[in-house]
Amino acid sequence: MAELLLSPDYPHARAAFLAAAASVSVGITSFPHPLKGPADEDLAVDVADLGPADASTVVLVVSATHGVEGYCGSALQTHWLTHDAAERPTDVRVVHVHALNPFGMAWVRRVNEDNVDLNRNFVDWSQPPPANADYGRIADLLVPAEWTDAELTRTTTELLGYADDWGFARLQAVISGGQYAHPTGVFYGGTGPVWSHRWLREFCAASLTGAERVIIIDLHTGLGPWGVGELIASAPKGEPHYDRAAQRWGSITSMLDGDSVSAVLAGDWLMVAGDLAPHAEVTPITIEYGTVDPITVLQSLRADAWLHSRGDPRGSNAPMVRAQVRAAFADDDPAWIAACWTRFAEVMGAALQP
Ligand SMILES: [Zn+2]
Repeated sequence: MAELLLSPDYPHARAAFLAAAASVSVGITSFPHPLKGPADEDLAVDVADLGPADASTVVLVVSATHGVEGYCGSALQTHWLTHDAAERPTDVRVVHVHALNPFGMAWVRRVNEDNVDLNRNFVDWSQPPPANADYGRIADLLVPAEWTDAELTRTTTELLGYADDWGFARLQAVISGGQYAHPTGVFYGGTGPVWSHRWLREFCAASLTGAERVIIIDLHTGLGPWGVGELIASAPKGEPHYDRAAQRWGSITSMLDGDSVSAVLAGDWLMVAGDLAPHAEVTPITIEYGTVDPITVLQSLRADAWLHSRGDPRGSNAPMVRAQVRAAFADDDPAWIAACWTRFAEVMGAALQP
C-alpha cells in the first residue's frame, strides 16, 4: 500500500479526492462555494456517492467541518476510496462529503469565511443564542490588538491566571464552549445559519429522503492524545443517538457527560443530526484525533483570530500563522496519519456492518 501522506494544501487534497473517486468510477457532485482560496483557487464541497441510490442504509462521512481539520479527514476519505471502497457491502450507500467548510480548509483555519465555528452555529436561531458572559472578561486577552512577543507573553500569563482562579476545565469551557457576542474572537457561533450550515441542511433534505438508517461519521482533529481517535457522541448516555452508537462501536464517550476530551458545547451539527433525516434512524458519531497539547492548539487559534481580524491574511505574517495552525491540527509525520487510518478503518468497518 502506498504511503499515506497529508496533502500540502486544499487544491492538492481536492485533486487527490477527485482522482480517487474517478479511479473507482464513482461520480462526484461539486457544490461551488462563493469565495476563493489563498491562491485564488475555486472552493467547493465535493460529494462522492457510492452504491444504490435507494439503499435503506446510508453511511455519511464528513470532513473539514472545522476547515483545517480536513487535511486529516480528506486523506482518510481519499485512502478509503482508493483501497477499501471496492470491498464495501454492495447494498449500502456510502456518501463522502469532502470539505464541508472548504474556505476554512483552504485558508488553514478552523472557522469559516465569517470567522464562525460551524460546530457552534447549529443552535436554535429562533431563540437568542446561548450566553457566555465570562468569555467577555477574557476576550481582549485571547485576541489582543497587537500580536508581538511581548503582548503574547503578557496575555498568556494573564490567561494562565484565570486558569489558576477558575480551574483549567472551566477556562476550557468558557473559551471553547462557544460565544455569540465577539465576532472576531475564537469559537464564535455567528448570528444565523452560515453557508456550510445551509448547504448541509439542503443537501440532506434532498439526498437522504429515502434512507431508513443514516450513520454519520464526522472527522475532527486537535483534541486528545496524539494519534488516538476518540469516538464522541453529541448526546448523553440513555439517548437513542448515544445508545445506538455505543452498540455499533463499543467504547465511546459523550461530550455531555464530562467523560470526553471535548468541553460541553452548544451548536454542534451532530446534535441536530436527527432533524437532517427526520424519517430515518440516525446514528451520529465524531472521531476526534489527538495532535498536540491544548495550550499549543489554543495559541494557534489565537494567532489565527488575530491575523484575520487585526492582521493581514495575505501579509508577511500569514504563512507563519498558517503553518502554526496546520501543525496544531494536522501532523505530517506519516506515523500519525497511519494511526488515524487504522482507527478510521475500524470505525468504517463497524459502520458498514448490518
Ligand atoms: Zn473539530
